[in-house]
Amino acid sequence: MPAAVERTLLLLKPDTVHRGLIGEILSRIERKGLKIIAMKMMALQDSLIEEHYFFHREKPFFPEIVKYMTEGPIVALVVEGDGAIALMRALCGATDCAEAAIGTIRGDYGLTIRYNLIHASDSAETAAVEIPRFFDETEIHPYARKILE
Ligand code: ATP
Ligand code: MG
Repeated sequence: MPAAVERTLLLLKPDTVHRGLIGEILSRIERKGLKIIAMKMMALQDSLIEEHYFFHREKPFFPEIVKYMTEGPIVALVVEGDGAIALMRALCGATDCAEAAIGTIRGDYGLTIRYNLIHASDSAETAAVEIPRFFDETEIHPYARKILE
């Protein structure tokens, strides 16, 4: 039975932008068959990062997250597809790029735990909170795929 159609929030973090890897990563998402239904470049305010990573507020590396995520613009996306949430986490690989499997985004392009290129929602509950955090409903563009003649 096919997995349910899901939506997930992705953030291409500042290191992805600085290193010129936006296209590489978008290409992996598209080639997998997932559908990009929203996308924009943004400079994040500290307050939005603190909200987004609230779960980590007590961790010793929390100030490093805020610094990292303000080192340049990010690209935010909503991606849709069968089982998109788990699929995107699998495409990203483990949090620590040094441990992420080769073939994943983090495993192929990163070296460290902090500069790990991409965020992807980790559950349906998280995605439901994260998508409206970054996108108004009017910025999301669902569409049916057409095969052009
Ligand atoms: P994300 O939430 O960004 O998708 P994740 O779910 O794989 O990543 P989390 O454990 O939620 O990993 O960590 C959030 C982010 O905090 C990581 O993506 C990374 O940028 C940073 N981070 C995590 N652990 C460390 C650490 N030990 N030192 C520095 N930064 C860290
Ligand atoms: Mg996380």
